[in-house]
Amino acid sequence: MSVSRREFLVQSGSCAAHIALAAAWMPAMSRTLWARQPIGPVVAREPFGSLERVADGVWALVSTPLTGDRTTLSNGGIIAGSSAVLAIEGFNQPQGAEWLAARARELTGRWPTHIALTHYHSDHANGIAGYLSHGDHPVLRSTARTRELVVARNQPADPARVAALNHAVVLSPTEPTTIDLGGRVVRIMPRVGHTESDVSLELEDPSLVFCGDLFWNAMFPNFVDAIPSKLGASVRALRRTRDTIYVPGHGAVGRAPEYDRYTAMLDEVERAARKAHAAGTSAADASAAFALPASLGDWTLFSKGFYQRAFEAWYRELPA
Ligand SMILES: [Zn+2]
Repeated sequence: MSVSRREFLVQSGSCAAHIALAAAWMPAMSRTLWARQPIGPVVAREPFGSLERVADGVWALVSTPLTGDRTTLSNGGIIAGSSAVLAIEGFNQPQGAEWLAARARELTGRWPTHIALTHYHSDHANGIAGYLSHGDHPVLRSTARTRELVVARNQPADPARVAALNHAVVLSPTEPTTIDLGGRVVRIMPRVGHTESDVSLELEDPSLVFCGDLFWNAMFPNFVDAIPSKLGASVRALRRTRDTIYVPGHGAVGRAPEYDRYTAMLDEVERAARKAHAAGTSAADASAAFALPASLGDWTLFSKGFYQRAFEAWYRELPA
């Protein structure tokens, strides 16, 4: 995958640019291992990702962006009840959303009736109009801030995307929203940290969380918009004590061991950033000297340039 400078500049506020740059740095072997461990049966496979059944009536799309196919880029999914179907994320291109909706109809008998966006980043939001392409009109939900940010920052603007967002039902930024899909209630929880407005989508039975980009599995996350102290708090709030399936924004579906490894990795970044900041070291110098300990496993696939954004995010928060 090659990424032009222009594309990077256009999308530099998104996870898409981050992933595309990561692809250039990842060893080939690591790329082939990407998302190769489904926890459930794969019901559809495309160059851009695999749809796997993670529980009864719940499917996760695990995108494989490092193949170079940019249809979806982010993960997402489908939650079905007896009377309604929720699709999660709008993906990078309308074809991605349309593809997921078509799979929902095959698997559940229904085109999605509800759509939820976890945050504004282009790889999660830009294809949202694809759900409207067959004359169906699912109810789209996002926070007001997410909607504002999609319209303001995800350029070039797409009139169909903006029109879809104009009909969105706004989620409370402070209170949970519940959606009853018929015998199945999804709780949408307002969060913050990966961006200034994130949401997670949560089920109790089975115990399952669609984490959006608050969780990246085996991939160093994008801190471009991060508020790291709040990110850490949100990541801890999502962790459940009982056996739980965590669908990340990027990477394979995880359970507690993967989730805890991610938390430990974030803690290591925090520890190093605080120490360097206290010593008066610049974010650039500190990130250049930074390495994750081998005990945290395979996070060392990326250019140290990606660490710099994380240190810069911490430095924004730490007192001057
Ligand atoms: Zn993101």
